[in-house]
Amino acid sequence: MPSSSLALRARVIFPVDAPPVENGALTVTEGRIAWIGRADRAEGELIDLGDVALLPGMVNAHTHLEFSDRQKPLGKPGLPFVEWIRATLAERGRRKRSPAKAIRSGYQQSLTSGVTTVGEIVTANAPAYCTRDNSPRLTAFQEVIGFSRARADSALTAAIASLHELRHPHEDQPNDLQLGVSPHAPYTVSPPLLKSLVDLAGQRHSPVTMHVAESVAELQLLTNGTGPFRELLEERSMWDSEVLTSGSHPLDYLRLLAQAPRALVVHGNYLCDEAFCFLADHREHMSLIHCPRTHAFFEHSPLELSDLLDQGVHLALGTDSRASNPDLCILREMQHVARHHPKIRPDDILKMGTLASAEALGRATQVGSLTVGKQADLVTIPTGEINDGPPQALLEEVLNSGQPVKQVWLAGALV
Ligand SMILES: [Zn+2]
Repeated sequence: MPSSSLALRARVIFPVDAPPVENGALTVTEGRIAWIGRADRAEGELIDLGDVALLPGMVNAHTHLEFSDRQKPLGKPGLPFVEWIRATLAERGRRKRSPAKAIRSGYQQSLTSGVTTVGEIVTANAPAYCTRDNSPRLTAFQEVIGFSRARADSALTAAIASLHELRHPHEDQPNDLQLGVSPHAPYTVSPPLLKSLVDLAGQRHSPVTMHVAESVAELQLLTNGTGPFRELLEERSMWDSEVLTSGSHPLDYLRLLAQAPRALVVHGNYLCDEAFCFLADHREHMSLIHCPRTHAFFEHSPLELSDLLDQGVHLALGTDSRASNPDLCILREMQHVARHHPKIRPDDILKMGTLASAEALGRATQVGSLTVGKQADLVTIPTGEINDGPPQALLEEVLNSGQPVKQVWLAGALV
């Protein structure tokens, strides 16, 4: 056991990639996990955290921090998705300043809720993401929009310039920055532009994320080029009748995304069985990012998450933004999954919000589990009221108790 800068004892440790350790201890050296085992086998003095569960910092695989200053979602629950898109466009239009303040608030909200790594969709200029304060580790996916053929070249050029700016900002970078690319969605990015962006990601060894099959309106647009998205694109002078071939399908987009080094398919609420099979076949580098409470907010058709897991789909969790979700807390997303999907084992739910999300972002060698050598991103959740029982039952109670995160460490430093 090497000499450590931090040595903790907890009622139970859930490493995620290994069985739980009751009366567990964990030590940290130079910001990384140095040792995990039973407290009675630990050398030296331990800080006793008491009746808590010690877990890895949570990973939010999909959010838009620019809306983190909202107190509640935009619009009423169940509103048609295209109406909500119009509301977000209006919200951006009303905004007088850069969303830097909202983004920094989003960093703080994430950290205090135990989220230590964030997959963020970047829409603002690079300085809005800079901060002197602590931030979660950030995977910044540059958003790209360009539906018409006329827009494709300029959208690609602008994306390359924005990625350069994010890499070389004039102010302090957010913590541990990784860059990625986000072609927004099939109703805003043409297949040729998507292909160019996937090629760009391949050259840069970057992950790609895209909203796919989020709404029924999107399927309608792809199938026959009609419906509320067609109207919206026409209103905004974005429509190009030559872009979509009749009878196109979300699976066409998944096939393009599969060419990327790593792809995060966000939502997938209305993917067909063949598309889910495709995701399962490509699970080594393709993930489905489910945003549980955003899914509930729009009252989408239920997704049988347990069937998807059984089928082999690599499932991870995101919050989406506070324009469709009450907060940025992945623990609450896991609690929501536990309540609505009783067939899924608690350890699988914990994995979705930690290791699976880290894998989705391509960061699993670094974060997502309590593993010797990984970053010491840690959280505790009180277990005080919870009775004795096997660790699995304890984890189930932790997920169901509604207890908030108590302490958070980033690279071994208390946040
Ligand atoms: Zn989103």
